[in-house]
Amino acid sequence: MEIGDIEYMVINEIFYSLQGEGQLAGVPSVFIRLAGCPLRCRWCDTPDAQSPSAGTKYAKAWLCEQINRYPAGHIVITGGEPMTQPKLPELLKAIRRPGVHITIETAGIMFVGGLPCELMSISPKLSNSTPAHATVHESIRLNVSVVKDLLKHYPCQLKFVVDSRGDLDEIVRFVGQLPKVRPESVFLMPQAAERKAYLDKSQWIADYCLNTGFSFGPRLQVMLWPGQRGK
Ligand code: SF4
Repeated sequence: MEIGDIEYMVINEIFYSLQGEGQLAGVPSVFIRLAGCPLRCRWCDTPDAQSPSAGTKYAKAWLCEQINRYPAGHIVITGGEPMTQPKLPELLKAIRRPGVHITIETAGIMFVGGLPCELMSISPKLSNSTPAHATVHESIRLNVSVVKDLLKHYPCQLKFVVDSRGDLDEIVRFVGQLPKVRPESVFLMPQAAERKAYLDKSQWIADYCLNTGFSFGPRLQVMLWPGQRGK
């Protein structure tokens, strides 16, 4: 139900799929995609969610009904960049229920405390994300202090999009600035929009993970449903 009163959330899309990435890859999950992101990653796979107005106002009660339609105990709040949404705490409060597992996906550019979630999935953006005509992007894409705060206050995983072998040193340098993180909680994911590129990059990334203890990060959405929205 789309409405115009104050009991609403602006949602880009809501869909049911498998979590494609990180430690919960393969787990059936309801995804709530919020609109708005100040970054402009070169390879962004959700450009339609970058504008803060790229959403529809939905009643909170309707949202909860939609979530309950699916046989999943996992909810993923994604974007866009959820942490920039003033109504994020309100949304989490509305959808919270006993036994549910909530993941928040963020680029780690803004800290918000006290959010009820089981997993903060942080994907800091490397230099490979910078578009040709970057304005704000380059100056805000990496924020060590914010990532440190997130690690301190939430159960976290780190995910990096890897495009070329040169990215690997950048990841080691970034992780080296953080308090001790378990290498297996750091996921390295191939940058790819289709299967061939995904598989080509997977081989050397997997070898690197075996040598370092970092985890290989699958992207099931690229393997199973390349280019499809709502997956
Ligand atoms: S942070 Fe995510 S939503 Fe924002 S531009 Fe980058 S890939 Fe797209």
